[in-house]
Amino acid sequence: MADLTPMMQQYLDMKARNPDSILFFRLGDFYEMFNEDAKLVSKELDLTLTTRDRNKPPEERTPMCGVPYHSCDSYIARLIAKGYKVAICEQTEDPALAKGLVDRDIIRVVTPGTVIASSMLEEGKNNYICGIYADSAVWGLCLCDISTGEVYATSFPAGTEAQDHLENELGRFHPAEAVLSDGAYHADGLVDFLRERLDCSCENGGEGRFRLGAARPLVEKQFKTGLDTLPEGDTGAVQAAGGLLAYLYETQKTDLSHIANFTYYTSEQFMELDLTARQTLELTATLRSKDKKGSLLWVLDKTKTAMGGRLIRGWMERPLLSPVQIGRRQQAVSDLVEDIITREELSLTLREVTDLERLIGRVVYGSAGGRDLAALANGLGKLPRLRELLEGCSSALLRSLREELDDLPQLRDLLGRALVDEPPFSVREGGFIRSGYDQEVDRLRDLLDHSAEKLAELEVRTKEQTGIKNMKVKSNKVFGYYIEVAKSQIDLVPADWTRKQTTVNAERYISQELKELEHAILSAEDKVTALEYQLFCELKEQVCAQVARIQKSAAAVAQVDVLNSFAAVAAANNYCMPLVDTSDVLNIQEGRHPVVEKVLKNTLFVPNDTHMDCGGDLCAIITGPNMAGKSTYMRQVALIVLMAQMGSFVPAKSAHIGVVDRVFTRIGASDDLSAGQSTFMVEMTEVAALLKNATKKSLLILDEIGRGTSTYDGMAIARAVLEYCADPRRLGAKTLFATHYHELTALEGQIPGVKNYNIAAKKRGSDVIFLRKIVRGGADQSYGVEVAKLAGVPDRVIRRAREILEELESGNGTEPVGRGQAPAADDQISLMDLGSQTVLKKLRLTDVNVLSPIEALNLLAELKQDMNG
Ligand code: ATP
Repeated sequence: MADLTPMMQQYLDMKARNPDSILFFRLGDFYEMFNEDAKLVSKELDLTLTTRDRNKPPEERTPMCGVPYHSCDSYIARLIAKGYKVAICEQTEDPALAKGLVDRDIIRVVTPGTVIASSMLEEGKNNYICGIYADSAVWGLCLCDISTGEVYATSFPAGTEAQDHLENELGRFHPAEAVLSDGAYHADGLVDFLRERLDCSCENGGEGRFRLGAARPLVEKQFKTGLDTLPEGDTGAVQAAGGLLAYLYETQKTDLSHIANFTYYTSEQFMELDLTARQTLELTATLRSKDKKGSLLWVLDKTKTAMGGRLIRGWMERPLLSPVQIGRRQQAVSDLVEDIITREELSLTLREVTDLERLIGRVVYGSAGGRDLAALANGLGKLPRLRELLEGCSSALLRSLREELDDLPQLRDLLGRALVDEPPFSVREGGFIRSGYDQEVDRLRDLLDHSAEKLAELEVRTKEQTGIKNMKVKSNKVFGYYIEVAKSQIDLVPADWTRKQTTVNAERYISQELKELEHAILSAEDKVTALEYQLFCELKEQVCAQVARIQKSAAAVAQVDVLNSFAAVAAANNYCMPLVDTSDVLNIQEGRHPVVEKVLKNTLFVPNDTHMDCGGDLCAIITGPNMAGKSTYMRQVALIVLMAQMGSFVPAKSAHIGVVDRVFTRIGASDDLSAGQSTFMVEMTEVAALLKNATKKSLLILDEIGRGTSTYDGMAIARAVLEYCADPRRLGAKTLFATHYHELTALEGQIPGVKNYNIAAKKRGSDVIFLRKIVRGGADQSYGVEVAKLAGVPDRVIRRAREILEELESGNGTEPVGRGQAPAADDQISLMDLGSQTVLKKLRLTDVNVLSPIEALNLLAELKQDMNG
């Protein structure tokens, strides 16, 4: 294209280098987009699409749309949320000084996993990007939150279970973006899992970035601490981390030295939970609305800092397996439960601690302003008080956290002296350096503030020196500053003054001294802003030098905050400290469901006991009416176990928890139609996963197995699954098994370790009263019909259901519905009945007094039609 302007050529070159990103091209005060990008963005963000070169015929014009640079964050955030990447192309030289075309370059590519502006991030949530590597020997995963600098990595030997483990880890961290090696990208179903179940944007990062030879040097250069945690000979984690780093360097093009601490972990450290268990147990969001309200996190999260908010999620996603580590947390919580004053004071102080972790991230990354430095200093300023409050605590964990709270007094002092109390938003316009901090800034500001006085002084002095009595120092736009001397006195003008202008009565001159003063005044503004910026950069350097110490303090604040939150929740809700050990016992006295007990409005939650072990009490078959509380009970057991392993207290009178390696759930019926799976298929996939991966140390929550198919098929599958779980030679895992197949209660006595329980209900007349108590033995009845009545199913249907039920019960109890006698003719709900209901409804709503004769006739015809169906 010969007629392209040099600027358009520059644009097209940039675009060719970033074909999969939307290019924000800086032009003056705007970022402009052209061609297809312009069309796309104008549609996605509802912006006006214009064109360049209006003198050309319409079909040759270049489509264009733009956003103001000072408010670009919100536009970028919306594009990122829609899954796009945005490449920011800046002017890299001052346009005023450029000769010809201004130099431009891509300064970074913003992607879902690399956003750093606080407006694009959720405070209490990490934003992870991950690298995934897979070959025939090993799978590696590395996750990084560039806003906080956290990095986690793990690896698994390749094999049938590698992908399951990997997906569980991904479900735990919920990354926003994944860069996969070619092998991982083509692993069966992995990209679909990431995209569809985690809403994660995926990129095939090729093999080159992930090659060991390329990856290892990057990893060794980037990470200053933590590499010693890497197991000898591990390559998977290194390759995943190296591939990820290469991608980050290419897209971010900035200092990432705050990402310095590498944490390798293994599956033996944390309880593994698959995505289904996390979702069905509603750990961080409810199943239906996906809200935090109504989830376990909603009950437990009383953290006061953004750092604590993120960490409590992390602890919830990664329950511990080591009783020793759990005990350390418990002791800390116990300290704080018992000391209400410290707890309350800690809450008040923590509330004022700023987000040190993300602030330091932004400083290193180069996107911080004066406000961020001041906020950092303010946050650090609260740490001495935190240390003071923790002084009396005896638990080892709180004592060691106290030691890690480093408030960096020198840095704080420096920032306090250097910055005004409320710095302006931009660092390019000055006004944030405190007076008294830098002599030159003070001098320049003084000059600007007192220029009129300085000119007056010069006038007085010059008058004295020259004896020109009626001279005046003045200024105008054309000539700048000058000395005006009446024609009568020009003889006295010193020889070294330069004449600038002649008027009717006077001559205007400039003296060397006035020239210098003029220059000083006019350039002071530019100088002071440049100088302030330079001082800001120096301060930034000072702060960057302390990254590791600030990150350590931030991590300690986060932990204190979470422990204090656990304590506050425990005290407010009457939780107890569970005994956690490596036994195989689950013994809970008067356990409660932490969320349901909070949402019940007019009734009290009925506590229930649980006893399970790997002997006689391995599997509990739980029957009972619909709505009795079976699901609530089973989830409560799982949640109590999870809470105990997080280090939290639990909603019970007392609890003894032998650590569980995994909790599996199979709860409720859900279609995954988007993934092309029916209800029954989803159910069986979950059953398959848990039977394949569970161990004797696992806890299984099985709510309604085999409901999505015919009665006999379903019952057969349910029974076979239960036999498998209960058999110590096969699985032998603690299992809570709720079912409506009463026939299964016959298994008690036949299979060792299986016991029947039911959630008691009483029948009063034709109604059912729920007692919510779990008791030994199978349920005598299902009360399904009574519950249907409670739910408002029409009386006619309820009556008919009772008849069928009686028939079935008097004959073959297990005979599936459908073989009984046909319903009596007068009990059938006919179309006629349905039609007449519509007719009645219409008649009720009709005001006869306002109908015209023709309307009445029309209505009559309509009603007749309704009657005929
Ligand atoms: P279904 O078989 O129909 O799935 P279910 O037996 O699993 O029913 P849940 O869903 O557990 O019943 O409980 C129904 C409702 O009963 C809960 O939403 C809760 O409001 C109440 N409930 C359950 N357990 C208790 C309890 N222990 N104390 C007080 N209320 C409870």
